[in-house]
Amino acid sequence: MDTTTPRSFTPAELSAIRADFPLLTRTVRDGKPLVYLDSAATSQKPDPVLDTEQDFYLHRNAAVHRGAHHVAEEATDAFEGARAHIAQFVGADTDELIWTSGATTAINIVAYGIQNATLGRGGAAAQRFAIQPGDTIVVTETEHHANLIPWQELAHRTGATLHWISVDDNGRLRTEELATVVTERTKILAFTHASNVTGAITDVAAFVARAREVGALTVLDACQSVPHLPVNFHELGVDFAAFSGHKMLGPTGVGMLYGRRELLEALPPVLFGGSMVEVVTMTDTTFMPPPQRFEAGTQPVAQAVALGAAAQYLHEIGMDRVYAHEQELARQLLTVSEVPGVTVIGPTDTHNRLAVVSFTVDGVHAHDVGQILDDAGIAVRVGHHCAQPLHRRFGIASTSRASASIYTTTDEITTFVESLATVQAFFG
Ligand code: PLP
Repeated sequence: MDTTTPRSFTPAELSAIRADFPLLTRTVRDGKPLVYLDSAATSQKPDPVLDTEQDFYLHRNAAVHRGAHHVAEEATDAFEGARAHIAQFVGADTDELIWTSGATTAINIVAYGIQNATLGRGGAAAQRFAIQPGDTIVVTETEHHANLIPWQELAHRTGATLHWISVDDNGRLRTEELATVVTERTKILAFTHASNVTGAITDVAAFVARAREVGALTVLDACQSVPHLPVNFHELGVDFAAFSGHKMLGPTGVGMLYGRRELLEALPPVLFGGSMVEVVTMTDTTFMPPPQRFEAGTQPVAQAVALGAAAQYLHEIGMDRVYAHEQELARQLLTVSEVPGVTVIGPTDTHNRLAVVSFTVDGVHAHDVGQILDDAGIAVRVGHHCAQPLHRRFGIASTSRASASIYTTTDEITTFVESLATVQAFFG
């Protein structure tokens, strides 16, 4: 990725962006301006997204694909139009994107689909996915539980063995381990694009190259990358990818699974019911082609349409500029490592990273850190951030995490770093 050219936002541009996010104007804790540094957990939503969702319910609400009436046609156009917008945004073909309720569901659809193939479902074409005892599934030590537990479960159910790429003391993945951990027996290589704890960006090209050498499928957790940097699944060359609406300025309850077309055509579905079938008899059913094959039941239509607006919003601003802005914020966030008693977990350099910084404060529990910052109106996340193995790797149970987004200002980060400097004194 070229990280040298793009320009960050001018103060006027950033003010205009912030004016789109109504929640950012609120105060907390007796009138303190909210400093929202919890965007890695969930992002705030701009007016165009909120308006699109409301507009759908006000003017276009109907069941998609099924109705022969005017409003149903408009609803279907909005729903499929959103899919097309997002496809352009993430570098995919429209029929390679499946609506899901979130990234967790998306990853589970792949894992259960592979299990169904292993059970013999999906016919001969699905056999390419079948897993046997002795095969391996490889993940990384930095995974969010959403991209770890589905693979643990698949390994338990198929007799495959789970292996992982470890992280070094700096919180970067040891990419050199790909050569030994990923072998001819590896069927799946599932890894995050960017860590929700350390902010480290993975060398996706190295992972994809090694997977191709051994014929393994790649599954990319793109939850933290899609909202913060330019992402193009075709260019990355991954087989599957999952991302989440609520982290990319969109609504909760909606996310997407990307799959290369020929793989989606061969992968058995895992959820069954209406809207995904061609012919149903009392004993058997034939399924529609992807993406509908994976979209049983009523989808989160209004949320999907609003997610299309979120992608459009980010696209119009330009993801290269979003990344440039957040690079500045990352640099500034990393100054927490100069605060006495503060230890950053993960890389402290600005190379290939997001504006996500997790840290400990000597002698102060993460929950107390969160509490003191909250008293100052600063929202951070505390705990293990759904990445217990990574925390265990560093010998800690929890961290505090500050994470920025498109709307975060340098003044907010200054406020945060200054407040953090008072935490130890408070407890000292
Ligand atoms: N993967 C990563 C890296 C995440 O940060 C998250 C959200 O916390 C998830 C997966 C799960 O996403 P969702 O909330 O859409 O299921």
